[in-house]
Amino acid sequence: MNTYARLPVAFASGEGTYLLDTQGNRYLDGLSGIAVVGVGHANPRVADAIAQQAKTLTHTSNLYEIPLQEKLADRLCALSGMEKVFFSNSGAEANEAAIKLARIKGNRQGIKKPTTIVMDGSFHGRTMATLTATGNRKVHAGFEPLLSGFVRAPYDDIDAVALIAANNPDVVAVFVEPVLGEGGIHIPDANYLSELRKICDEHNWLLMLDEVQTGNGRTGKYFAYQHTNCLPDVVTTAKGLGNGMPIGACLARGEAAELFAPGNHGSTFGGNPLACAAANAVLDEIEEHNLCARAESLGERIVSGLQAGLNGNNRVAEVRGHGLMIAVELNEDAPELVSQALEQRVLINVTQGNIIRLLPPLTMSDAEADELTAKIVALVQS
Ligand SMILES: *Cc1c(COP(=O)(O)O)cnc(C)c1O
Repeated sequence: MNTYARLPVAFASGEGTYLLDTQGNRYLDGLSGIAVVGVGHANPRVADAIAQQAKTLTHTSNLYEIPLQEKLADRLCALSGMEKVFFSNSGAEANEAAIKLARIKGNRQGIKKPTTIVMDGSFHGRTMATLTATGNRKVHAGFEPLLSGFVRAPYDDIDAVALIAANNPDVVAVFVEPVLGEGGIHIPDANYLSELRKICDEHNWLLMLDEVQTGNGRTGKYFAYQHTNCLPDVVTTAKGLGNGMPIGACLARGEAAELFAPGNHGSTFGGNPLACAAANAVLDEIEEHNLCARAESLGERIVSGLQAGLNGNNRVAEVRGHGLMIAVELNEDAPELVSQALEQRVLINVTQGNIIRLLPPLTMSDAEADELTAKIVALVQS
């Protein structure tokens, strides 16, 4: 159906940071399929894991034990400080699980209308619950009635959350991205998450983080909250977890990890052997090549290169980044930059009309990072 305004190019193959189109032209990928292909296109270890698993066993359903899923869950818990995992096939579904956890907690406590605080400018997905949670009118429009049980606060505004806390006894959770992704790579105050943690503790709310885009090493830690000294109760991820194999996860600890019982939630495909084989191979790559630290240093390299190259350019409002989530915010809308970049054989995204968003693979070389930087500088100057 007509859900995307597609660019007139089709890719036939990929290798690392590059894609080849059906005519044989080579493109530098500054977007990795929207933060998905973190360990690079056609990653050999992930490709082998998928091929081997496809020849062995792809799917049995969650009616039976799945050792590869248990292994992946143990590894994700060890990486995150969480205790239990529910596996899904996408980010939106991982977020549905989080939203259901908040509601089941509230209903067990006898709260009349369990309510989750969500943020303006956020993006949580396209299912009815996650589009309702999303803080963007364009995502809501035409799909009313939205779900009840959400209240909105401005992003990076602790006072607004404290005001809701003082006035709304139905709140059970805060659901927030550690960095706004689709919303334009907005990086909150360094104390934002720990201030939210404090309010959640005071009111017995769940702190639930949407790390669908920020997770899997992209910001320089496995999860973005690991730059702070606070732990959420629930964290969701997806995009980079399978390097293109569809898989999502909702992780939880403490009370939140024990809320679901058989019958409360499920997924036919979620966490099947094929998806888990791919994700285990992604974790192997991230660990073996130290890709979290690599994302941090590559991000610093690209941001400082962009700042130097665009210094004094009156089109540019700000260059900012957190690891390999990088934004060049322009003073005016420039959606045409996406097709101009395509002509220059570089893949980028423009979000919110005026924000160039870069989400390149964590495996790129310094030379590729410098090539990406130079191409973006030239694009903005042209
Ligand atoms: C992409 C994204 C989602 C939705 O993920 P899907 O896999 O498209 O359902 C949710 N939250 C955030 C922060 C995202 O970036």
